[in-house]
Amino acid sequence: MASNASSKTPLRQAALAVEIIAVGTELLMGETVNTNATWLSQSLAEEGFNVYHHTTVGDNPARIQAVMAQAFERSNVLVFTGGLGPTEDDLTVATITSYFNEPLVADPNSEAVIKAFFIAKGQTHSPSNLKQALRPAVAQAIANPIGTAPGLSWTVEVEGQPKHIIALPGVPREMKAMWPASLEALHTFAEKQGVKAQVLAKRSLHFFGIGESKIGEGLKDLMDVSNPSVAPYVGDSEVRLRIAAQAPTLQEAEALITPVQAEIISRLKEYYFGEGDTLRVEQVIADALIKKQQTLSVAESCTGGYISHLLTNVAGSSAYTTLNVVTYSNAQKTALLGVPESLLAEHGAVSEAVAKAMAVGIQQVASSDWGLATTGIAGPGGGTPEKPVGLVWIGLASPDGGVTAHRVQVNPKQGREHTKHWFAQYALHTLRKALKAPHESFDL
Ligand code: ATP
Repeated sequence: MASNASSKTPLRQAALAVEIIAVGTELLMGETVNTNATWLSQSLAEEGFNVYHHTTVGDNPARIQAVMAQAFERSNVLVFTGGLGPTEDDLTVATITSYFNEPLVADPNSEAVIKAFFIAKGQTHSPSNLKQALRPAVAQAIANPIGTAPGLSWTVEVEGQPKHIIALPGVPREMKAMWPASLEALHTFAEKQGVKAQVLAKRSLHFFGIGESKIGEGLKDLMDVSNPSVAPYVGDSEVRLRIAAQAPTLQEAEALITPVQAEIISRLKEYYFGEGDTLRVEQVIADALIKKQQTLSVAESCTGGYISHLLTNVAGSSAYTTLNVVTYSNAQKTALLGVPESLLAEHGAVSEAVAKAMAVGIQQVASSDWGLATTGIAGPGGGTPEKPVGLVWIGLASPDGGVTAHRVQVNPKQGREHTKHWFAQYALHTLRKALKAPHESFDL
């Protein structure tokens, strides 16, 4: 494993630089979010292409051409989205073509497809629809399986350098449908340039209870290496580390990641709770409970059913969920869970003793293996110096008859809902740790 690397390790092969150019005044006005660029970047990264620039430009020929001039200086491939439609402001193809002083020609195939599209709908096309069949003579049309505007793909020479241009519609559904054919054209271009796109492999590791800066300090040597690269992303209540590697084959890329992943987990084992792009703690809990064939019941006060909501978001949660209740009032804590009135009077509802009694109470009422309980102060009112807003006690009754309570103080400044979210996360991770998930299954 690389360590003490003071500079980034260079990639083994020179790669093509791709620039995504989103055309549309609505993007600049903030009316439409540029999801196309995100989607294209992800796909290009997976295909081993390096996207070095995202550019957004309005429906304005002069500005589109200025962007092209700049992009040709720094990029080998320009991927346009938007402005391929039939209306006046859809100027992308005409503008790109006039940049090269090329005439526009009608593509007979595209014309036939456009006419057939309207006939199939019992309509007739308008002259502006046929505008979409115009292309530079040298460009190849990319069929649009769900709309009328075809895409275009062609290679040009700019100051002696080959550049590839792809133009796709802005409508995300159409753009995505035309992307496989565009990628094929891109790979062909890359091969002609003698560049074999590298395969990208990536994995996401999830951590709870540790901040981004502490992770950065602990993994500095690994983060200084560029292949595989290690980068942290801060989520709502977790830090996600993305490890990504490029290599000629997927197998080789995976082989670069595996030892780095093992090293990261061994350093941060205490905080690690699993791997996967969309992994959530409730899924880790579900997997562990199913594996152990154990059941769970939850008694919530301050979290108001939020924990139950998260747990039951997991498909198949009926395999381990027995009874989840919201006992908000003291009276119901006593009536439903058997929390002694004297305990509530002596310690108050937000206390270690009551959290434990709630956990044991729900475990017994539901006859479940585990009983999880929360009692706290979500705010904004109701706090005292001894029991401030943001305080939660998490009770956990386990299958061996034991019961524990954990005191957590969260920062309530972001409001009641956020505080409840954190309470729930701490409660779920308390349970997850008690289940020894996912470490029990690790082979470290
Ligand atoms: P049309 O045939 O609909 O005119 P087009 O290729 O000309 O297609 P635009 O007119 O630029 O595309 O955009 C059509 C719609 O597609 C926009 O109103 C917007 O909803 C969506 N869109 C355009 N560009 C993007 C983008 N970069 N990211 C996400 N959505 C986009």
